[in-house]
Amino acid sequence: MEVLKFNSKGVLVEYVQTLLNTLGFSNLNIDGIFGSKTKEAVINFQRNFWLTPDGIIGKNTWNKLLLYAYIVPTNIHYGYNILSINLDGFKQKFPFLDIGNIGYSSLGRTIPYIRFGKGKKQVFYSASIHANEWITSVLLMKYIENLSFAYENNNTIFDYRARFLYDNISLYIVPMVNPDGVDLVVGNIEKYLPNIFNNAKILSDNYPNIPFPDGWKANINGIDLNLQFPALWDEAKEIKYSQGYTKPGPRDFVGKSPLIAVESINLYNFTISKNFSLILAYHTQGRVIYWRFSDFLPANSYYIGTQFQNVSGYALEDTPKNSANAGYKDWFIKSYNRPGYTIEAGYGTNPLPISQFDEIYSTNVGILTLGMVL
Ligand SMILES: [Zn+2]
Repeated sequence: MEVLKFNSKGVLVEYVQTLLNTLGFSNLNIDGIFGSKTKEAVINFQRNFWLTPDGIIGKNTWNKLLLYAYIVPTNIHYGYNILSINLDGFKQKFPFLDIGNIGYSSLGRTIPYIRFGKGKKQVFYSASIHANEWITSVLLMKYIENLSFAYENNNTIFDYRARFLYDNISLYIVPMVNPDGVDLVVGNIEKYLPNIFNNAKILSDNYPNIPFPDGWKANINGIDLNLQFPALWDEAKEIKYSQGYTKPGPRDFVGKSPLIAVESINLYNFTISKNFSLILAYHTQGRVIYWRFSDFLPANSYYIGTQFQNVSGYALEDTPKNSANAGYKDWFIKSYNRPGYTIEAGYGTNPLPISQFDEIYSTNVGILTLGMVL
């Protein structure tokens, strides 16, 4: 782990600040800048754990801080580094979770999955296939944390007993389908991989009206991973090309053919290796639930959608024609004729401010729980 000290900057500093606040050592502004107040808080923490109180976060201080690595922070930029910290924390704290990976990203990072439960019925939730929708990763990770605490303490989540869910369901989640893209948006690529950042900037310059990197949805090579699935892909291509998305860039480029981006291939292979009875694909744009693909009407799909609508207040709608094809949920419905939903959480311009998190969580906890039992 990177040594953090006075004047360090970035997402890891945000993480330490929020952890020190959560643990009661400070009341810091979460600004990602290691200033004198942060140093003071680190010294408090070090004294408390009988560490050398030098205000520098080296190996020993990190080791103590990471005793709390299972706490998913809900008020900072959430990139691949914090995801990895949380997953290590989950492995220690919640040994009943099965944590593995579905393959590698374009930059060679593993793309993790988590399984909660040992039941026969398999359901699958995914998040952050679109880079600037990374708040959805926090949603799924916080949900797993809360579900795991409920399991450990024999409590309920949204009125369902977690141990009942564990025994009857296998919930799979892939919290960050597109880790390279997320890291571009949250600032980690610029900080740690400046050459990759410059390459992405060159692709982005093809589309001068899209803000960089905030408008980035694609993978790091400029392919929109949710336009890569073999479900009316040619129609999607025609629509997106007619809108001017004819080359790699921050969003809406379908790729040269379906299933050429590794992240989409991973998702595809993972899905066909399982037997999911329902999938949720999390996005962030407009508090709606899309449930249709073409003329398919999977059994119970409309009923489950109305239940989701009831517990969230999100509107159950048909997908707008311009974004109706080649998505993950489109392909799932087409291939299996089972219920699949795109959930568009939150409202506003992406990336949504993390200050929307609490509202998004409380609105979606019902969907996330009913997705297992309906
Ligand atoms: Zn999206």
